[in-house]
Amino acid sequence: MKRVRWAVAVVLLAGATSACRGPGSWFGMKKQPTGDAITVAASFYPIAEIVQRVGGDKVNVLNLTPAGTDAHDVELTAKQLQQLQDAKVTFYLGEKFQPSVFKAISSVKGATVDLLKVTPTSGFTCGTCDGDPHVWLNPSNMVLMTKEVSLKLSAARPDLAAMFTANSSAYIAELEGVGKKIDTAFSTCASRVLVTSHYSFSYFANRANLTMYSLAPSNPDAQLSAQQIEKLTNELKSARVSTIFSEEMVASTLVNTVAQSIGASVSSLQPLEGITNADLKADKNYITFQLDNIKRIAQGLGCS
Ligand SMILES: [Zn+2]
Repeated sequence: MKRVRWAVAVVLLAGATSACRGPGSWFGMKKQPTGDAITVAASFYPIAEIVQRVGGDKVNVLNLTPAGTDAHDVELTAKQLQQLQDAKVTFYLGEKFQPSVFKAISSVKGATVDLLKVTPTSGFTCGTCDGDPHVWLNPSNMVLMTKEVSLKLSAARPDLAAMFTANSSAYIAELEGVGKKIDTAFSTCASRVLVTSHYSFSYFANRANLTMYSLAPSNPDAQLSAQQIEKLTNELKSARVSTIFSEEMVASTLVNTVAQSIGASVSSLQPLEGITNADLKADKNYITFQLDNIKRIAQGLGCS
């Protein structure tokens, strides 16, 4: 539950910049939705970016996770539940990642699409990904989700299918560029152990051929016991881990404690589930943050 308090603090900070941004302008959008745009709901940021990129000015994106909030803990407000009724299509990610969204899905009028169903999950390509919902951190999964969004938007607006297909191809090319970077950035590294503060980067680690350790269990509401932390610290020490990665939205006390005890330095990563208004205003997005993540991990693990 520690995550909740941190998320609230971030919301309060982000609030200062959110007041001047009206609906539809949250995504650093160059174009406002046209009058015939359809309302499409996305349960959190990376999905909202996909919908925005595929739909262009023909969608009015309703992101159910407000900028700066933690996607795991999001609780839909009465207003959001009402807005959700206007959505022609609602895209979400499985049952467990955002329980509040999943609960709301059953009562919406429009079509609902579970994007987790189009991504290979646990046991398919990634044995260590069990319990990790962060499928979007492997760009290949973003590509699969983008194709599905394009299909579903085309079903909702067949007259715009050609535009959605063209938009999705352009976005997929960018995503594949990120994937290629991951494939080449970690070929020779001093360490292949990626240590993160929350159980989030196993899909990325799998793609990069790294081994992920997390300082928190896969259930975000649980914490490791003192004995588990001690065992993990010893493992990290013998693996000669020299960098531990924190995340903006998660309390970093444990990261600092463990880093200090094994003489490692601390860097940070962006798991992209709670991008802030300040980030959006600075035109940061999935692509730019993933390129940053690649750079920081490569630097932290001594890759060349
Ligand atoms: Zn997460």
